[in-house]
Amino acid sequence: MARKLPVLETSGALRHDGSRRVIHPADVHGRFNTARKSLFYALVAFMLSLPWIRINGNPAVLLDIPARRFFLLGGTFNAQDGAMLFFVFITIAWSLVMVTTVAGRVWCGWTCPQTVFLEGLFRPIERLVLGNANKRIAQDAAPATAGLVVKRVIVHALWFAAAAFIAHAVVSFFVPPQKLAQFIAHGPSASPTTFLWAAAFTGVIYMNFAWFREQTCLIVCPYGRLQSALVDKDSLTVGYDKKRGEPRGKAADKEKDPTNVGDCVDCKRCVVVCPTGIDIRNGPQLDCIGCTACIDACDEVMDKLDRPRGLVRYDSLHGLDNEPKRIIRPRVVVYALAGLVLLGVGTVTFRARKDFVANVLRVQGAPYTLEGDTVRNAFELHVVNKRNDTSVYLIEPIEQGTVRFVVPLTRISLGAFSDARAPVFVVSQRGRPAGDFVAQLRVRREGAPASETLTVNASCLAPAR
Ligand code: SF4
Ligand code: SF4
Repeated sequence: MARKLPVLETSGALRHDGSRRVIHPADVHGRFNTARKSLFYALVAFMLSLPWIRINGNPAVLLDIPARRFFLLGGTFNAQDGAMLFFVFITIAWSLVMVTTVAGRVWCGWTCPQTVFLEGLFRPIERLVLGNANKRIAQDAAPATAGLVVKRVIVHALWFAAAAFIAHAVVSFFVPPQKLAQFIAHGPSASPTTFLWAAAFTGVIYMNFAWFREQTCLIVCPYGRLQSALVDKDSLTVGYDKKRGEPRGKAADKEKDPTNVGDCVDCKRCVVVCPTGIDIRNGPQLDCIGCTACIDACDEVMDKLDRPRGLVRYDSLHGLDNEPKRIIRPRVVVYALAGLVLLGVGTVTFRARKDFVANVLRVQGAPYTLEGDTVRNAFELHVVNKRNDTSVYLIEPIEQGTVRFVVPLTRISLGAFSDARAPVFVVSQRGRPAGDFVAQLRVRREGAPASETLTVNASCLAPAR
């Protein structure tokens, strides 16, 4: 016989024998549901439009990995800008830490793609074809009829189409959407690699939303597991006001004895609407994704009973215990300061970045030649154009007395995201000790302000005899 586990030691998505319980959350209406759905559709519209938006003539977001070209909010980056991307990701991750500390799992409940697509697209499709939660629960329990099989095939076909659509939206962050449209029109042979990625994304998205669902939040997502370390008793959370709600009792019981019966009528509406299957009245739980469905559900019940809303509400644990609440507290200050430092370093790094790179490299095997009383050190000037257009680079030696660069090519034209090497020489008087002099030249993009000039040094290691 299966051992019965204590309720608080298990997940709402598991049966007592450890097998998975398929969750069909009941429909809920209310202010949070309306606000969340509006946000979901705004976010989906933003995501779909982002690859089509152009800033300064460049895609707002495009990660062209094979060509190692990256476009972000009008800026163009290449593989040498890896440090910039590091700062972007670290800043986003740090913002999430900060937001979680202050406002709990608002990311999970309001903006995470898992929630947005599950609640905004896949669950509504299921509801449209198979009916509301009660009907779906009954269908799961009853033997399958031909009509039900047909409906389920329709649901899965629609889910698959939705997954394919989202997969192509994801791929359009890596392949320009116009090009992607051509690939789709000409079939898989037009770009087998793109096709395979789109197919793989479709499969993963379909499996996730058709089958895995809340398990992604409960088992896979590392952020969900981390959040207990990020929040404290002053972080905002979705919680149940135990002092007000307990002891639970029927509405009629409270009318008879208002002092000994709390406001919770134990209707379990907050439980049946929960997408992770938990009972928020058991206190804060890792499985709670902060979706606010239980707030709307309980507010609806309180409205009907003519009792104040907020028995389940957004509040801190201190607030739910009627203790003083603090928004500014040491960990928030420390996180904010660390975030500011990160932002500062990232901004300085970004501002110091040029849209081209110029380096002087020694020529292998031909270190120097002697000419009369001078010595010529051979180098190569390597220029990388990080812009998405053809640019001309002007090369100009800096006069430094007896040590100077000789530049045969003073203009180099480079196509978008391309590079070139040009021979340059450092000429010096013979007889100087090796390595005691540095020659400099300036590289500037034609038409760019003087502040965009790079000064390149060449330290001569070859003996200047
Ligand atoms: S919805 Fe409100 S009243 Fe009903 S069980 Fe939940 S907390 Fe109690
Ligand atoms: S407990 Fe409430 S807020 Fe948390 S996941 Fe369930 S319904 Fe959403």
